[in-house]
Amino acid sequence: MGLLLKGGDVMDPGAGLAGKLDVRVRDGLIAAVAAGLAPDGDTVLDVTGALVVPGLIDLHAHCFVGGSDFGPRTDDMARSTGVTTWVDGGSAGAGTFEGMREWVLSRSRVRMLAFLNISAIGLMYLKIGELNHLPYADVDAAIGTARDHSDLIVGIKVRNQLEVVGDAGVEPLRRAVRAAEAVGGRIMIHCTNPPVPMADLLALLRAGDVVSHFLHGRGHGLLDEKGQVRREVRQARERGILFDVAHGRMHVKFPIARAAIEQGFYPDTISSDLTMGGSAGCVKDLPTTMAKFLNLGMPLPDVIRAATATPAKALGRAGKLGTLAPGAVADVAVFRLERGSFDFEDSHGGHMTGAQRLAPELTVRAGELWWKR
Ligand SMILES: [Zn+2]
Repeated sequence: MGLLLKGGDVMDPGAGLAGKLDVRVRDGLIAAVAAGLAPDGDTVLDVTGALVVPGLIDLHAHCFVGGSDFGPRTDDMARSTGVTTWVDGGSAGAGTFEGMREWVLSRSRVRMLAFLNISAIGLMYLKIGELNHLPYADVDAAIGTARDHSDLIVGIKVRNQLEVVGDAGVEPLRRAVRAAEAVGGRIMIHCTNPPVPMADLLALLRAGDVVSHFLHGRGHGLLDEKGQVRREVRQARERGILFDVAHGRMHVKFPIARAAIEQGFYPDTISSDLTMGGSAGCVKDLPTTMAKFLNLGMPLPDVIRAATATPAKALGRAGKLGTLAPGAVADVAVFRLERGSFDFEDSHGGHMTGAQRLAPELTVRAGELWWKR
C-alpha cells in the first residue's frame, strides 16, 4: 500500500488545510488528509509534533553543474531540504539548454522546470555579463528553444543589471517580453542594480511576471528616499506582478527585508537562488531562507504559502503542485520547527539572531519516501 504520515501539524495555506491531521499517500498521489486515519496496510511514518507541508517549490535556483558557473548537486540538495520542485532561473540559454536538459534536468528525481535565459549563452561565464554583447539576446532562438522544450520551460529569464546589460538598457528586457509573449510564458527579471529606475522596469512587465531579488540593496530598488515601499511597486503587485526573494549571494539585505515586512509588503515567493557558492555561504538552502523571513516577522502560514501554493501558481500549476489537497501529486516535506538562538546572515554580511528555524525531517517525492533525517 502507501504511506501514512501520522501525528503531524499539517499546514497547507493554499488548500486551507491546517491542524493535527494525518496524510495518506497512495499511488503517488495524496489520498486523504484527515484526523485519526487508520494504517489500513500503509507504512506508518510517525511525524508527531512536526510540521507537514506540501513539498517545497524553489522558484529560482540554479542547477547546471559543469555548464555554467552555477549548480549545486540538485538531488542531494533538494531531498535533504524538502524541495520537490526546482526551477532553474536562467542558467541556460538557447545555445546551451539542450546540454542542461540532457545532463541535469532529465537525470534528476526532483521535478525540474526552467526559465530560459534570453541570452543564448545563458550564465556560462559571469565575469563577462551574458548581455554585454546584445546580439546574444536572440528572440527567435529563444522562441524556438522554448517551443522545443515546452515541457520544461515556463518562461524567459533576463538579468537587467547595469553590469550585465552595459549600454543596452531595457532592450534585453523588451526582447525577453517579445519571446515570452510568443510562447505564452512568463518573465523572470533579475533587478539588482538596474540600469533604469524600478518603475521603468515594472512598466514593461505583465501580470504573472516575476521580479526576482527585490530585496537586493544595490542600486535603485524597492524603497523610496523615505524608506517606504514605492508606490509603483505596490501598483505593480496590484497588477499581478510577483515579487520573489531569490536570495543568492548578492540579493537580500536584512534592513530592506525588515522594512518591507514591517510595511506589510511580504514576498509573494521565497526562493533561494541557490548556487554552489550560495549553498556554502550565506544562503545555505531554501528552508534557511524561509526561516529568515519567519524571524523577520512574516507569519509561518505566509512563509509556507510563499514556497508552495504561490510558486505553483507562478508556474501555471496552481492546485497541481505545492498542495496537499487529495488528488494532487504526493510531494510532501516535513520539518521540525526548532526554537533556540540561531544566527542568520544576509548577502551584505549583515547578521540577525532568530528564535526559530526549520529543520528538515523527511521528504516524500511522488508518493515515495525520498529522504529521512
Ligand atoms: Zn539566479
